[in-house]
Amino acid sequence: MTYVIPPWDLPSLAVEGEAGRFPVRRIFCVGRNYAEHAREMGNDPDREPPFFFLKPADSLTPDGGNVPYPPATANLHHEVELVAAIGTAGAEISPGAANDHIYGYAVGLDLTRRDLQQVSKDRRWPWDTGKSFDSGAPCGNIAPAARIGHPANGAITLKVDGEPRQAGDLSDMIWSVPEIIGHLSRLFTLKPGDLIYTGTPAGVGPVTPGQRLEGEVEGVGTLSITVGGAA
Ligand code: MN
Repeated sequence: MTYVIPPWDLPSLAVEGEAGRFPVRRIFCVGRNYAEHAREMGNDPDREPPFFFLKPADSLTPDGGNVPYPPATANLHHEVELVAAIGTAGAEISPGAANDHIYGYAVGLDLTRRDLQQVSKDRRWPWDTGKSFDSGAPCGNIAPAARIGHPANGAITLKVDGEPRQAGDLSDMIWSVPEIIGHLSRLFTLKPGDLIYTGTPAGVGPVTPGQRLEGEVEGVGTLSITVGGAA
């Protein structure tokens, strides 16, 4: 294969205990999947169907990485999330069969330019400028489900410069991971390499240049990044 411009590396993540890496195809994200977070954002946490948005695969930032403070925002927010990594393709997957499609899990950050997202909400525009910016999808190493199983409960936390900011439990999800896959796979054929960010617990807030973010999901792993100066 030849290309008319130089091709870039396939986005990928390290896998715990494996020499090989996990290639990343698409990044799906679920909105408002913890009741306390829905309330803090001024929304009714009733069990409406889950809704989705996407981030580009090349916005991944690995564990230990640095996210340049993004342009065009004065309100960059952290959202720590459990990430499910799809290993086996499927469409119209029943929740009972969903785990068979998951290769593993990781700790992710759905970084958000909250001010731009608010403009999009006010004007009924898409969320892309608020959500899908460069380096906006930090994600830690993948923990294979073959080693850790399929976590349905356990603490999910985020610290900023060592101070607790977000805390919840996976069991607080409005839609479980298998239910999310059930809904998402009726909208898209899920493919190997897809990541699904499964929503954030309460306590989201702003990050400033120079700060260190440390996320952890019990039984899954950790993610640590720094936020740098202007991009
Ligand atoms: Mn989110």
